[in-house]
Parts: sequence; structure tokens; C-alpha cells
Amino acid sequence: MAENTQDTPDSEDSGTGLASRLGSHVPALAVGSVIALASIPAGLQPWQAILGYGVLASGLMVWPTGKAAARSRAEKKAQKTPPLDFAIVEALDMPTIIFDQETLVVRQNAAAKVLVGDYPERASLSARIRSPAILDLVARVVARGLPESVEHSERVPSERWHEVRVAPVKTRSEPGKRLYVLTFRDLTEARRMDRMRTDFVANASHELRTPLASLMGFIETMQGPARNDEAARTRFFSIMLEQAQRMARLIDDLLSLSRLEMRAHVAPEGEVNLGRTIMHVVDTLKPMANDLGVEIEVALPEEAVVVAGDVDELIQVFSNLIENACKYGQAGKRVQITVTNPVAEGADVTVQDFGPGIAKEHVPRLTERFYRVDVETSRAKKGTGLGLAIVKHILARHRARLVVRSTPGEGSAFTVKFSRAESAKKTIIKELY
Ligand code: ADP
Repeated sequence: MAENTQDTPDSEDSGTGLASRLGSHVPALAVGSVIALASIPAGLQPWQAILGYGVLASGLMVWPTGKAAARSRAEKKAQKTPPLDFAIVEALDMPTIIFDQETLVVRQNAAAKVLVGDYPERASLSARIRSPAILDLVARVVARGLPESVEHSERVPSERWHEVRVAPVKTRSEPGKRLYVLTFRDLTEARRMDRMRTDFVANASHELRTPLASLMGFIETMQGPARNDEAARTRFFSIMLEQAQRMARLIDDLLSLSRLEMRAHVAPEGEVNLGRTIMHVVDTLKPMANDLGVEIEVALPEEAVVVAGDVDELIQVFSNLIENACKYGQAGKRVQITVTNPVAEGADVTVQDFGPGIAKEHVPRLTERFYRVDVETSRAKKGTGLGLAIVKHILARHRARLVVRSTPGEGSAFTVKFSRAESAKKTIIKELY
């Protein structure tokens, strides 16, 4: 590792010949020669002129020229500035602490100050780091001189994981000293993702296994005790069809989610007329709403509201929200859909039901995969527990938000808030349906 900036040789000093070594003294030699030549006509003896020339030239050579003075100033400044090794440590965003063989802290960067606190000058490493696992690691590396790492987790103030690594360093800046570098690599996000993935696979398998177990049970019954019972077989077939349909819905939703995840960072390209899209969804869901005895009311502004978006994905969003409002808010017998487009903000679409509402503690978790207020009710209403997770993903791609307000006993309102930039475009679009 390079040490100080002043170590970088400048071009004049890089030559090794006599000419290059005398190069910086040329002005002194020239001034001396002129004065010596001028002194001969003035009546001095040649030996006196040569002696005078010698004294004058050496004086000028010893006196620092402008460049030499600048160099000596740079040298003094460099003694005050920290060696480059430490400047690099400072620039790292990974918490890093340098300590010596007595485990006294020599340097810590800003990220380390945030993580473990500010060490007073020459404090012991254990003044801030109390974890026995980390202190044992430090002792082992100091004793053996070989790099090692351990995984460390803490639960307070929040759950965090780090890979803590200690390695000996060789530096030219502290020649007599053995130094060690202690780093903390944050694994929290990676661990969180791992846990989410494991939970997701466990949940998805469980959701698929339930209808599958039921299917297998019915097949076995029909092969055995119900082999000749025509009436039972007819009944069983219709239950089996329902279970198979449930598995198909689940697989469709899982595929939808994975497709959305793949496109998460690609902004949608088309333009969508919100009023027309909502009317299309309402027409499709009307038979279901009629069966449930729910009336759907739509209030649209006079002017068309157009947002940038993918029409198929927004159909999926509004279908999910309106279907949920009809299913879970069935008791209210009425679902109200309102589109507003305030000048100062983006467009809003609110789907309001007048059913039992949702208790406060469930509201923040509704968009989690497989989260349901009541699993049995959701299953009975052909839910997969993935609808609102899909809505959240689609809206994230559209730079839109979902705001849920619910009052138990009065109903729930799910509002999609498109950002202003998305809803600003009001171009005429071609017929979509
Ligand atoms: P599901 O497939 O179970 O309907 P969703 O992700 O669409 O899954 O919804 C998650 C849960 O949120 C539902 O199981 C239900 O408990 C609750 N929920 C959603 N919409 C409403 C609503 N309008 N009123 C009451 N509860 C709702």
C-alpha cells in the first residue's frame, strides 16, 4: 500500500545523471558565473574572482530554492496528515477498526463509530465491544497471526447479523508495530431474505399439500369403501374438482408473483384509462356480486383519468380489491368505487365496502404473502392469501401506493394512490376493450 502522497517522486528528481542532479541548481550556478565574470574588469585577481564565484554559488545552492522550500513545507504537512492506510479506512462504509497487538484502538472509521460507539483515544477494544465471541476471535488472531471470522447476531435494539473478521495487516506507516483490522460485514438483509424465502416455500408447500391430501383421500375412498357407491362418487368428484381448482388458483397466483418479481424494476409502458378499466372489471365481477347479493356503485370524474401503466396488471389490481370487497364485505351489501384526480396530487381509486372491517393489528400485514385475517373464511371464499401481495407488487412497479383504512363494524377502504407524474398524462387513448 502506498503511504504518503509526498512519496510520489516528481519528474525532475527521477533522473540519475549529473545533469539531472545539477538541474535544480542551474539558476544558482548561472548567477555566480555572471557576478564572477563581471568582477574581473572591476580589478579583481582571477583567483579572487574564482574564490568569490565558489562562495556565492555554494551559498545560493544551500539556500532553498522555491521548489525545495515547497517540498520542505509539503514534508512538514505530511507528518501531520494521517498515513494513506487510515484515509482509506475512513472512506470505507463498512464498519472498520484498526487495533494493535495490545488490542488498543488505533483508528475507527465513521461507520464503526455508528455501530459500536466512539472510542476515546488509545482505548481498549473491549471498552465498546463486549461480545465474548468477538473478543475471543481477536485474541486468537493476535496469538496466531492468521485472519479469521465469526458470525455474530444481536437482538437489541433490532435483530442484526454481521460477519466479524479480524486480520493482521502489514503497513509501512507503522513499521515497528503489529496492527490488526476488524471489520463488520452486514448480513442482516441477506438473512432476512433467506428467512422470507424459507417461509415462502414452507407456506406454499403447505397450501398445496392441503388440497392434495384431500384429493388423495377421496381417490383412496373411491378405490375402497365407496367403490360401488354411485351417489358418493358423484359427490366426491365435485369436491375433488374444487380441490383441484384451488391448487390451480394457487399455482396461477404463485406464477403471477414470480413474473412480477422478474419485472419489478421495469416501468410499465402503456397508458390506462382508469374509468374504462374499472367499468370493465365491474362488468366481469357483476355475476359474482349478484350471487353474493352485493351492489357495486361507481363514481367517476367527468374528465377521463389516464395513468401510465400496464392495463392487464391494473385489471388484476382492481379485480382483487373489488372481489375482496364483495367477498369479505358481503354483509354491507354495497361496494362503492370512487375515482378522484385532485389537481395537486395524483389520481386515487378507492374501493370501499361496508362489511365487518379489519382489526387494527392486521392492517399493516395484509399485503404479506399468505397472510389472512381468518384462514378458514379466506379458504371458504376461494382465497389463496396472495391477492394483496400481488396488488402490492403491481403497484410498486407502477410507482403507486396502497392505503388501507378500516373501522371494525363499519367497513374497509382500499385506496390506490397513483403518483402525480403517472396521472399527469391525459392523452386520448385508443379503445382497449
Ligand atoms: P385472499 O386470497 O385470502 O382473499 P388477499 O391477499 O386478497 O387474500 O387478502 C388477505 C386477507 O385480507 C384476506 O384473507 C382477508 O382476511 C383480508 N381482507 C382483504 N380485503 C378485505 C376486506 N375488504 N374486508 C375485510 N378483510 C379483507
